[in-house]
Amino acid sequence: MKAVVFEDYKTFPTIKEVERPVAKAGEVLLKVAGAGCCHSDVSVFANATAETGKQTKPPFILGHETSGWIEDVGEGVTGFNKGDAYLVYGPTGCGHCKRCVAGEENYCENAATNTSMALGLGRNGGMAEYMVAPARNLVPLGNAEPIAAAPLADAALTPYHAIKAALPHLNGGGKYALVIGLGGLGQIAIQILKALTGATIIATDMKPEAMAQAEAKGAITVPSDENEVARIREIADGRGVDAAFDFVGFAPTIAAAQASSAVDSRVTIVGIAGGKATYDWYSNPLQQELTSVYWGSMTELHEVAAMYRQGVITPEVELYPMDCALDAYQNLVDGKLTKRAVVVP
Ligand code: NAD
Ligand code: ZN
Repeated sequence: MKAVVFEDYKTFPTIKEVERPVAKAGEVLLKVAGAGCCHSDVSVFANATAETGKQTKPPFILGHETSGWIEDVGEGVTGFNKGDAYLVYGPTGCGHCKRCVAGEENYCENAATNTSMALGLGRNGGMAEYMVAPARNLVPLGNAEPIAAAPLADAALTPYHAIKAALPHLNGGGKYALVIGLGGLGQIAIQILKALTGATIIATDMKPEAMAQAEAKGAITVPSDENEVARIREIADGRGVDAAFDFVGFAPTIAAAQASSAVDSRVTIVGIAGGKATYDWYSNPLQQELTSVYWGSMTELHEVAAMYRQGVITPEVELYPMDCALDAYQNLVDGKLTKRAVVVP
């Protein structure tokens, strides 16, 4: 079968012919419906080194945002029907710590000693005609359309987790939320904020078409430039936003998120661009939380799937056949995508 393989550190992926995998005990074989291209993959293949990328050691098949149909099950696996559609929960922890047994493999207590991070991050993922996954990682889609569902597994799950954790700051009426970076995750973040809160949503990016899409979803947009903080504070009653979500994570975007936020607010760094933040008693608004998040839990993916079935979360996707998968990644690198790229093998 054809697969998109990350072959070596600091090397752009390639399409290769590889052997079709077989489900072992406790695993399921899926015929892949869709596999999303996430910006985190770019960090993996463009930036990681043998030192920094121990848990994403090549070679492996990319694709940590996958949906598919049951094709076969391994020994001891029951309760699945061939052809039923599922999302794949990506994070793979040790499987036995307190966090893992609670379905929070994203926060595995043994992360430091795990040899991979997720299906598609350090071990084979879904950018192939078939993939195997642990049976416990499957989340049913029911009758919902499975190809456009692929981004739910990361581009929706991650902002959902970040927003749920920030809800105490967004409940109560008259609240403001800020979304920085309106790509794959940021666009879905707006849908989730609308569904879960009554907050006024302010959104910023430097791409006009990304801002137009955010406006169509009901956000007020502010271009990302030297006036953005003043403009955002003005919209947010002069006091600043109650929760900010930075889907870029450069030092300037983190600083903008902090400076745009109110007293008693929460700033969540989601983007992994590696920007450093400053924090001190005098210059940061009082009682302002600064936090980061990583992906989400299995339970949260079930919740996200339910919101998709109800039409509350609708990923906007651009489909690429397997032969064009590398164009999808190149367009992501070049900032040319206007919708989440999903490879359809
Ligand atoms: P994407 O490329 O689809 O979108 C990024 C968006 O940010 C683009 O619209 C771009 O124009 C915009 N942008 C870039 N620089 C900006 C700036 N200075 N100011 C305003 N906007 C700017 O990326 P994505 O797949 O949505 O991922 C977003 C980030 O989240 C990436 O860093 C990715 O690695 C990270 N990520 C983190 C997690 C996690 O668990 N923490 C999970 C998935 C992705
Ligand atoms: Zn664990």
